[in-house]
Amino acid sequence: MATDPTRARPAFRVLPRVDAANAHFWTGGAEGELRFLRCRACRHWIHPPAPICPACLSRDVAPEAASGRARVVTFTINHQPWIPGFPPPYAIAIVELPEQPGLRLTTNLVGVALEAIRIGMPVRVVFEERDGVWLPLFEPDPEAA
Ligand SMILES: [Zn+2]
Repeated sequence: MATDPTRARPAFRVLPRVDAANAHFWTGGAEGELRFLRCRACRHWIHPPAPICPACLSRDVAPEAASGRARVVTFTINHQPWIPGFPPPYAIAIVELPEQPGLRLTTNLVGVALEAIRIGMPVRVVFEERDGVWLPLFEPDPEAA
């Protein structure tokens, strides 16, 4: 819909610094995958990336794709023009993935009217590529109740 500001691709985004420790996360979108490190010993998901599993202290951790589904834990609508080229209003949210309690991301919600956003709303990942970085954003999940 033409009046939905969240559908517009902003002219600019602040990009993360990609390194060996987090490349799986920022480039997984190239294959459509939302990837996190996961412990191969106890199966704990690890985010932000760390070389040691915080649950069992194993160093046997490797990237693995999550489902890409999540629910909105909390959100705020930003009305301030903090970032040149990234005009407000836009929604900043924390979403939690069903894979593990506490496995959360701070993200932007897109493809939804700002007034329709609710806590608990089911969402799914959608990637926005910039300069080799695939930013994981979230949109309403049409397949969830
Ligand atoms: Zn572990």
